[in-house]
Amino acid sequence: MAQIAGVNTVQLQQLIESVSQGTVITNPATLDNYRWDRANDPSAGTPLAVVRAASAHDVQATLRFANVHDIPVVPRGAGSGLSGGSSAVEGGIVLSLENMREIDVDPLTRTAVVQPGALNTEVKAAAAEHGLWYPPDPSSFEFCSIGGNIATNAGGLCCVKYGVTADYVLGLRVVLADGKEITLGGPRLKDVAGLNLTQLFVGSEGTLGVITEVTLRLVPAQRPPTTLVATFATLDDATSSVLAIASTMRPSMLEFMDRPTINAVEDATGMGLDREAAAMLIVQSDEPAEYAAHEIAEIDALCQRHNASEVFATSDPEEAEAIIVARRMAIPAVERHGTLLLEDVGVPLPRLGDLVRGIEGIAKQQNVTIAVIAHAGDGNTHPLLVFDPTDDEQKQRAHDAYGDVMDLAVQLGGTITGEHGVGRLKRPWLVDSIGDDALELNYQVKKAFDPKNILNPGAIYDPAVLQEK
Ligand SMILES: Cc1cc2nc3c(=O)[nH]c(=O)nc-3n(C[C@H](O)[C@H](O)[C@H](O)COP(=O)(O)OP(=O)(O)OC[C@H]3O[C@@H](n4cnc5c(N)ncnc54)[C@H](O)[C@@H]3O)c2cc1C
Repeated sequence: MAQIAGVNTVQLQQLIESVSQGTVITNPATLDNYRWDRANDPSAGTPLAVVRAASAHDVQATLRFANVHDIPVVPRGAGSGLSGGSSAVEGGIVLSLENMREIDVDPLTRTAVVQPGALNTEVKAAAAEHGLWYPPDPSSFEFCSIGGNIATNAGGLCCVKYGVTADYVLGLRVVLADGKEITLGGPRLKDVAGLNLTQLFVGSEGTLGVITEVTLRLVPAQRPPTTLVATFATLDDATSSVLAIASTMRPSMLEFMDRPTINAVEDATGMGLDREAAAMLIVQSDEPAEYAAHEIAEIDALCQRHNASEVFATSDPEEAEAIIVARRMAIPAVERHGTLLLEDVGVPLPRLGDLVRGIEGIAKQQNVTIAVIAHAGDGNTHPLLVFDPTDDEQKQRAHDAYGDVMDLAVQLGGTITGEHGVGRLKRPWLVDSIGDDALELNYQVKKAFDPKNILNPGAIYDPAVLQEK
């Protein structure tokens, strides 16, 4: 009998018959499209099959099959992840949620019940039809899914005032490793019955269960913001301004771009950014117009006090949008200059200056280009390490610098990942970030939910170590 990666064709036929028609894909060309997320993890395997689930029933049937046959299952949203969290596992199943996209908004409870494959932008649009807003706004909001956002606890640009994905998750339906579907929480603002399992799944990167439905909290639509851009001749002046602003005010955005990023964005847009500036801050206030003008004036004064070379403010929505688009396109703009290793380290805000200066030092020491963007108000930076993939020596230096940046963040009392997740690429640094005892507890929780380690094995936790425990 023919075998595909340990499963014979009769067994595979059982899977095909247990899920909706046409949802199981085994054609090699299509399988290839599901091997990587945006981190291009070199260790990604070739899956046995992709299941493009049409319903929670398909998710349950797939997990029951995988559990019986000990087959790894990698849940996948839109594949925009930046840490290799949805890299395919050799001989496993990629369980794609991309076709489960229903959205149902209830304006009375200000909630939305959403299937995991709906894109973040689709949820925002559905909420807007009722004068409501779903705040979490990763730069990838136009092409990432809500399921992926919850599984990574995605952040974004407005989190400095409005919080991260976790702050909007009221309830979940989740299919566990054995195929059982559970309901957690719901459209209630307060609920302390039992352990907070809802939040345990937030940021669990597909390792504890597959999210099949989510109840999200919505808020009234955001007021049109006033936007300020300030440039600085030194990194220290920019990061001290961030601390001064964040410790006294609550802007709705506080973003940072350094010189290599400014130049990459300017190369891509020609919008007239100051190529000589060491750093640029983008700040927004969405307070009512009169108070926003006051808040922006105070931020202007703080930037001037920290030696800003130029400050520009606007309440024109088109001008503001052009500035924000420039910030959102920073990653693709830098990517034009080579292959990227993307970092996501964060520190307590008073250490932001040490982190940014330290990263500049690592770039010099390892002779690697590192462009830094940051959700600065959250102390969360994205150093983008650029290398030529055909130059092995340069590639090695970039990988060394990748580790050095995480070591630096940990030394500064920070984290190896603020919002992208550990995935597969950051796994070796997890123990340094959270310590032995917390890692041990992570293993115990994983084992309680997924004793056979079939759910996204290799993400977050090391499967070999897990088996030894
Ligand atoms: C240009 C660019 C900018 C970005 N900017 C940001 C940013 O500002 N902030 C930010 O936080 N991220 C950002 N990201 C990273 C990425 O978009 C987020 O991590 C996003 O949340 C991933 O969603 P996804 O649907 O693409 O998930 P995927 O990449 O498909 O999966 C991510 C993880 O979630 C798991 N998963 C997916 N769906 C489910 C489910 N239904 N149930 C259980 N587990 C699941 C996967 O197994 C994997 O571990 C950016 C990415 C790019 C390319």
